[in-house]
Amino acid sequence: MRKKIIAGNWKMNVLPSETATLVKEVAEATKACGNVEVVCCVPAIDVAAAIEAAKGTQVGIGAENAHWEAKGAFTGEISCPMLVDAGVKYVIIGHSERRQYFGETDETVNKRARAVIAAGMTAIVCVGETLEEREAGKLVEVIERQMNVGLKGVTAADCDKLVIAYEPVWAIGTGKTATPDQAQEVHALIRATLAKLVGAETADKVRIQYGGSMKPGNAAELLAKPDIDGGLIGGAALKAGDFAGIVAAGN
Ligand code: PEP
Repeated sequence: MRKKIIAGNWKMNVLPSETATLVKEVAEATKACGNVEVVCCVPAIDVAAAIEAAKGTQVGIGAENAHWEAKGAFTGEISCPMLVDAGVKYVIIGHSERRQYFGETDETVNKRARAVIAAGMTAIVCVGETLEEREAGKLVEVIERQMNVGLKGVTAADCDKLVIAYEPVWAIGTGKTATPDQAQEVHALIRATLAKLVGAETADKVRIQYGGSMKPGNAAELLAKPDIDGGLIGGAALKAGDFAGIVAAGN
C-alpha cells in the first residue's frame, strides 16, 4: 500500500508575511487526514516562516527548486545543505514552468534530483508532455526521455526519497484536467519505465502524483485510480479549504 501524498505548489504567490497563516490553516484543515502525507512547497523566502508555523503539525515543508552544488559562486541559487539546514524535507524538481521559462533540461533535472536525494530530502520530480507533443503522438517518447535522463543514476536504494509528479503541461493552471483514464494510462507508463530503471519491486513502492487543475471536485476519481498516489496542487493549494478537500479525497 502506497501512502497518498498531496503536495501544494505555492509557486510565486504567497508573501513571507502571509505564510504562517496559510500553513496553520492547512494544518488545521487537514488534521483529521492521518492516512495522507501533507506537504506545502513554498518559495525559498517563505521557507523559514513555513517551517516555524508547521512545527508540531502533520504538515511537511518543501521547496520549489534546489541547485546541485553544495556551495559556491552561484548567485541567486539555493543549495540542498541550505534547505536541509532550514528544515526542508521535500523539493520539487523539473516543474514544467522551470523547464519552459528558466531553461531547465532533463540533464539539469537529473543533477538537481540526485543532489536532493543525496542530501536526504525527497525529490518530487515532475514529468509531463505539452499539448503539441501529445497531439503529435509523442507522449510515450517524451515521458520515457524525461524519466530515463532525469533519473539517470538514481538507484533502487534512492527510491524511498523519490516521488514522481505526472503533470500534463496542457492541464497546469488551465482548468483542463486529464481524465482519470488518461492520467492512469500515463502513470502506468511511468511506473513501467521506472521498473526498467530500478526494478519492478522498487517501482511498485514509488508514489506517482497527478498534477494539473486538481480540485476537491475531481480529486476523488483521479485518486481512485490504481497508479495515482497523490496530487501536486497549484491554484487549489492557495486556499486551505480547497487544499484540505483534496487531502480528504485521498484519505
Ligand atoms: C502545478 O503547477 O504543479 C499545478 C498542478 O498547478 P494547477 O493545480 O494550478 O494546475
